[in-house]
Amino acid sequence: MRACWRSLSLRVLWGVLLAWWLPGEASAQQSAEPSRVAVRAARLFDGKNAKLLTDAVVLVEANRIKAVGSKLTIPEGTQVIDLGDVTLLPGLIDVHSHLLLSDDIAQGQNSMELIVSRMSTAERALLGAKLGREVLEVGFTTVRDVGNSGVNGDVALREAIKKGWVVGPRISACTRALAPQGGQFGHLQPAAQGLIEQEYVTITGADEARRAVRQAVYDGADCIKVIGDNGHNVLSEEELKVIVEEAHRMKRPVAVHTTKDESIRAAVAAGVDSIEHGYSMPEDVLAPMARKRIFLVPTCGSVEMCEDLDAMPGDEATKRMRRETCRNAIKRGQAQARRAVAAGVRVAAGSDSYTELPGKTRGDTTLSYLIAYEELGLSAVDVLRAATSSAAELLRVQDRVGSLEAGKLADVIAVKGDPLKNLSALRQVRFVMKDGKVVLGPVEEAGQVTTPAH
Ligand SMILES: [Zn+2]
Repeated sequence: MRACWRSLSLRVLWGVLLAWWLPGEASAQQSAEPSRVAVRAARLFDGKNAKLLTDAVVLVEANRIKAVGSKLTIPEGTQVIDLGDVTLLPGLIDVHSHLLLSDDIAQGQNSMELIVSRMSTAERALLGAKLGREVLEVGFTTVRDVGNSGVNGDVALREAIKKGWVVGPRISACTRALAPQGGQFGHLQPAAQGLIEQEYVTITGADEARRAVRQAVYDGADCIKVIGDNGHNVLSEEELKVIVEEAHRMKRPVAVHTTKDESIRAAVAAGVDSIEHGYSMPEDVLAPMARKRIFLVPTCGSVEMCEDLDAMPGDEATKRMRRETCRNAIKRGQAQARRAVAAGVRVAAGSDSYTELPGKTRGDTTLSYLIAYEELGLSAVDVLRAATSSAAELLRVQDRVGSLEAGKLADVIAVKGDPLKNLSALRQVRFVMKDGKVVLGPVEEAGQVTTPAH
């Protein structure tokens, strides 16, 4: 009893001390941090206009952009980060990431069910923290994570990043994908089928579809990911319509993975927000997609990326065959996406990157998918819009990110060179600011630099 009283009184004393000390500590920190930062550079792409701004200045106050302009007057007392001969851009957005999924290609390619059966959701969230940092450091300040995150591991990672426990991109989390029987796995024995419910919510009928959307929202979803077809089953138009109705009522966009004519037709008829992959693209869906402003998120990449498969085990003949199969698959995917682009279908940038390649970070791989978009008949500026303002619109966050404008969150990156002339400039990232905080750079070769105290 006495010990109990003593520990209680100590706790009270500690509480009083903390209450006295903490406000002072917080205000001391605030006054030490610069309240205003001006980021200056030779050029600026605002996420929308094809014409670059020269002698650009982005004025940042706390975590928001206060003003953007050419030769802007910088108020006294503002900390200046002069980056010199670089191009400023809004933080990039990947609308199709899998930060909690990883297939190490050097070990040979594994099936999805094998990958997800080997790691707990907790381990995968920690892996996501590593990969999230890698994509942030090449300039992706926002990602939409579209499933295969275990049971809501993406929400855990999103919250950890928000709280500052780990450094990573802003995450729009979809939680478990809604799928027909079987998820995206091959045939599993009944004893192993628990794995399906770990990664997917199975839908059989309209009532379950509505329930699954509500469950996702309850679980913390910012978006609803749907597997339209899976090699065993195809969701019906009726089920997709209910998903869209319920998700839109909750202001969540619906992303549908489709690889078949039947599933893309049903998804477009249901009025979803984006078609992921679109490996099958019948002529009759193109005009409705353009009319309904449904985004296509192509994830085919470039034929050059097939060289990366050489890191997998195998003799020379096997490697040659593998490269050839890969190139043919990519060419087929590109041909489909090119038809959609030519028909006026809008594109939002997504990588679907989930493989680890020797010598490359997840950030490097994600950038490769983005740069490959030019091969689909998009101009460089349209590729950049696909990864900034258009992506933000798809994610319904255009009031906060996706462009460099007054009032938006201060997600600003800088790359060497001019990405509108050569998209590969994106590989030369020199500066990353997310939410007003500098994550990367400035580098020494820039002009006058004052590093903010973050
Ligand atoms: Zn995917």
